[in-house]
Amino acid sequence: MADEKQYDLVIIGAGPGGYVAAVRAAQLGMKTVCVDKEARLGGICLNYGCIPSKALLDSSHYYAMAKDSFAEHGIHVGDMDLDIARMMARKDEVVKGLTDNVRQLLQGNKVEIVHGTAKIAGQTEVEVTDENGGARTLKTRYILLATGSKPVSLPGLSFDGRRIVSSTEALAFEAVPEKLIVVGGGYIGLELGSVWARLGSEVTVLEMQGNVAGPVDGQIARMLLRSLKKQGLYFELNTKVVGAEVKDDAVNVTVEADGKENTLTADRVLVAVGRKPLTEGLGLDTVGVELNDQGMVAVDATYKTSVDSIYAIGDLIPGPMLAHTASAEGRAAVECMAGQMGEVNYDAIPAVIYTHPEAAYVGWNEEQLKERQIPYCKGTFPFTGAGRARCMGDTEGFVKVLSHTKTDRILGVHIIGARASDMIPEAVLAMETGASCEDISRVVHGHPTFSEAFQEAAMVAQECSIYIG
Ligand code: FAD
Repeated sequence: MADEKQYDLVIIGAGPGGYVAAVRAAQLGMKTVCVDKEARLGGICLNYGCIPSKALLDSSHYYAMAKDSFAEHGIHVGDMDLDIARMMARKDEVVKGLTDNVRQLLQGNKVEIVHGTAKIAGQTEVEVTDENGGARTLKTRYILLATGSKPVSLPGLSFDGRRIVSSTEALAFEAVPEKLIVVGGGYIGLELGSVWARLGSEVTVLEMQGNVAGPVDGQIARMLLRSLKKQGLYFELNTKVVGAEVKDDAVNVTVEADGKENTLTADRVLVAVGRKPLTEGLGLDTVGVELNDQGMVAVDATYKTSVDSIYAIGDLIPGPMLAHTASAEGRAAVECMAGQMGEVNYDAIPAVIYTHPEAAYVGWNEEQLKERQIPYCKGTFPFTGAGRARCMGDTEGFVKVLSHTKTDRILGVHIIGARASDMIPEAVLAMETGASCEDISRVVHGHPTFSEAFQEAAMVAQECSIYIG
């Protein structure tokens, strides 16, 4: 496809979008180079997002279990000691192992890796500047933009990396903050709030809306809120943060609720109110790559931007800002460049909140079905009815299946419970393949497993449950 000096594809960004696209492109025979400004590959996901947050969620969960739940199983651990430095070191080891794997994966597929900051220099040219200021130009047939996103700050709450921080710093506190304020009750705020609350912080979550967890089904969100409150997190809902004053050893945060102002004090404030596409310095103007009204790179169904040779994927474009979405888009975009039918089904993208209990969903929620006046049947089944959950002593939560009244086709699945993240793929497969509740109810599920609750919820929706009359 190209001569020695010319690449078929230059990918800017080696996150889950960019590196997956690079491997797929190499498999399709494209001479590919992947550029990243960070020495460690894997993007936000591996270095400052999905992986370090889950490593800390798992470590802090074990700590909470050892403190509060092991005794029920007859295990007495005695005096406990928390070694935060070790916990952080372990998290870093997990991250390093995975980022090293990405490098090996790219090398194994003969993808060239270039370290430096890239910008578009022309429709088929990318300029890369290394840390010493040296520049080189990569000539290519296609450019794939996969530069991801960055955290949004709030007016009056600029990040200072010390007292007012983003998720990046909150994944690396060297000590447990005595009091932590989390601004934003979305998944990042709830996950990191959970980590530090489990480790001993007094955590207060400030949320402008009347509920937490953003687009999650209302019934699930309410249960999650109740559960997190039971675990000791405080919530101030319908509360707007209007400013903050940083002192030497604390931050005073001014909030407004019911028309009244109030001041809360904490030693750290985590602002987790969303992320925005990382488009600055990319040279989009040089060639006229268009953005949409929200400042995201506009693409068509093949991930092509307004410039024929330039494609974009991941957090940079409209759609869910999730690692698995970025990877799916990366693969699809490259297949489209190669003339294949790459595509992503946005109706069946799972989302998970890795709190305890976890919340996971795919498809429509009840509020959306009501709003669209789609007639639906609902089946719910509690984990108290699942033998495996009883054995584990982890019965909080339920599965909710929503299906079309006329066709029985599954429209949405919502799970709150200990293993929701590992159960949701079955629901995604069901939706991808157009399965009905009857299909799910006739699939034999292993016993005893959490997944039996999915089968039972599908049977409840069909009104043929074995266990619920
Ligand atoms: P990124 O992963 O952001 O990668 C972009 C890459 O581009 C980076 O490596 C960056 O260095 C590089 N880059 C940027 N500009 C340039 C440039 N000019 N030149 C060269 N290189 C450049 N998603 C999930 O699905 N599950 C989760 O559990 C989850 N947890 C998260 C937890 C946290 C705390 C955060 C912050 C995010 C989480 N996410 C999660 C979201 C997920 O990390 C992102 O959706 C995903 O990383 C986006 O992938 P991407 O490839 O688009 O971009």
